[in-house]
Amino acid sequence: MASDTATGSATATSHQFQAEVAKLLHLMVHSVYSDRDVFLRELISNAADALDKLRYEAIAQPELLEGQPGLTITITPDKEGRTLTIADSGIGMSGQELIDNLGTIAKSGTQAFVEQVKAKQGDVPLIGQFGIGFYSAFIVAGTVDVISRRAGSEEAYRWSSGGAGSFTVTPAESAPRGASIILHLRDDALEFLEDWKIESVVRTYSDHIAHPIMLAVGNGTAKQINSASAIWTRPKSDITPEQHKEFFGHISGSYSDPALTLHYRAEGRNEYTVLLYVPGERPFDLYDPERRGRQKLYVKRVYIADDVELLPAYLRFVRGVIDSEDMPLNISREMLQNNPQVAAIRKAVTGKVLSELRKLSETDDAAYARLWEIYGPVLKEGLYEDMERRDQLHELVRFRSTRSDWVSLKDYIAGLQENQTAIYYLTAEDITRAKASPQLEGYKARGVEVLLLTDPVDSFWVRTALGYDGKPFKPVTQGSADLDLIKLKDGAKADAADDAATAVLNAALKQALGDKVKDVRASTRLTTSAVCIVNDSMMDRTLEKLLSRQKDSGISVSAPVLEVNPGHPLIKALAALVKARGAGAVEDAAQLLLDQAFIIEGEQVPDPTGFAKRLTDVMTKALG
Ligand code: ADP
Repeated sequence: MASDTATGSATATSHQFQAEVAKLLHLMVHSVYSDRDVFLRELISNAADALDKLRYEAIAQPELLEGQPGLTITITPDKEGRTLTIADSGIGMSGQELIDNLGTIAKSGTQAFVEQVKAKQGDVPLIGQFGIGFYSAFIVAGTVDVISRRAGSEEAYRWSSGGAGSFTVTPAESAPRGASIILHLRDDALEFLEDWKIESVVRTYSDHIAHPIMLAVGNGTAKQINSASAIWTRPKSDITPEQHKEFFGHISGSYSDPALTLHYRAEGRNEYTVLLYVPGERPFDLYDPERRGRQKLYVKRVYIADDVELLPAYLRFVRGVIDSEDMPLNISREMLQNNPQVAAIRKAVTGKVLSELRKLSETDDAAYARLWEIYGPVLKEGLYEDMERRDQLHELVRFRSTRSDWVSLKDYIAGLQENQTAIYYLTAEDITRAKASPQLEGYKARGVEVLLLTDPVDSFWVRTALGYDGKPFKPVTQGSADLDLIKLKDGAKADAADDAATAVLNAALKQALGDKVKDVRASTRLTTSAVCIVNDSMMDRTLEKLLSRQKDSGISVSAPVLEVNPGHPLIKALAALVKARGAGAVEDAAQLLLDQAFIIEGEQVPDPTGFAKRLTDVMTKALG
């Protein structure tokens, strides 16, 4: 939405912020910040990105640097004017880019951000992560001006806003290449005009920025206030944990410590330096397929791109930098997609990340469990996406089970019962439901551990899983015959059942239920429950439910198999009833048994009114 107003010779256009931005700005202005310094880090970070982009574009178009070869960030405090200016000689923005970039934001980022702010009651700890860094300027400024000229263009523009609903963009007289962000500071933020304050914030958050950050100290002179060295080029032993935290913060937008740091130099056919981090807290965009910038590719310290697939998707939570010594600087982005060197690097670095994770799993159970809780569902994608690494991933996976909180496959195998030939699992939509499933009863009675798979991804990988240590993965629903070979634990006893009578009952139940069930059959898997439902098809019921909820999947939940427990007193009594009075005697009971099985599975009863009526009848009869 834009409207034109003539102001002198230049035409100003007025624009409304996208609704999400307006909401966000409102939060920025009205929230309480535990740490207001972050705005400076965010603006310096944007400036550094703009310098990186120009340096990359100038490889193909050296004329972009003409007249102004220096790539610097200059911070200028003006005590009289009460302004703080952060200027860079980077790529800059055209008039349209000012409107697009500084008026809208990536939706997923904002929503996640707004939710987080609400949850934390106004404290905003993670601004950068959400791709809204620029707007943090309004934490300290009532009005913000941006004067910008795009590299290679003669036209300059001024963007201006008071942060409430709208902004204007006006052609400007002239401007140096790049962008200058001019903050008109609020009365409570004047400390940011003090040299010591600026220097201390820069040292804390932006020291590693690979471009010089200059502080204007009057009389047209400026001094450099950061060390401006690419941290990954320094010897490993020289880098302090604080410096890692600072750099990790810059690339991930996080303010926490990384949980795992990987810093090494690969020599040989390909030479490159790797500095990667595994965040200790769950990145908000873990499941956002659009989000880029997880790993940045540099060539000889020059930033090239952040959308090259340097690691497979199932390691997308890893952040950091890979700097190649031997790739050509003028490599185009298209060439990068199928570049054999990139492929070789990806392969080697993937192996290294996985082996680091394994090391952690062997040395620090608790730390590994914390990481697994965050990234487990993502790593498991690798089990079906990366066949080559399946063995390596099998060593890393952990599962909740009927016996422990997190069990490894190795430990599962160590706990096999005599005659147990498979790794049994149950899929369910959540852990409470999984633990309550009647399907587990026969396994518990025999001390057989069952993996409880409750992540959506589980239904996918487990279908293609080949097994581990010679044992196949098998759903509990297919383990009946196996269970007959495994001894019951002391104390558990199988109730003697009359097989012939049960068969007659099953036929009567099937007749009463018609197509509502695919079949009715006896099961050895049940010990305390009377019935349960299972799927007979290739697809397990959890996956079927999951897919049926997705639009256009064309999949609906199929009629289940009703399994009955022949040893259960109720089943025995019903079998006797059929024998005495014929199949018609169990019609209502059949419905009630099926409905009950649905409820245990967490599914809806297809006819709640009928269910209530039948239950009421039974209760009335029982009470006399
Ligand atoms: P992010 O930097 O995470 O993308 P921001 O809200 O901080 O989000 O900035 C939005 C966009 O505005 C940036 O992606 C970039 O295209 C542009 N931008 C911000 N600051 C500058 C700058 N100093 N020079 C050039 N472009 C900039």
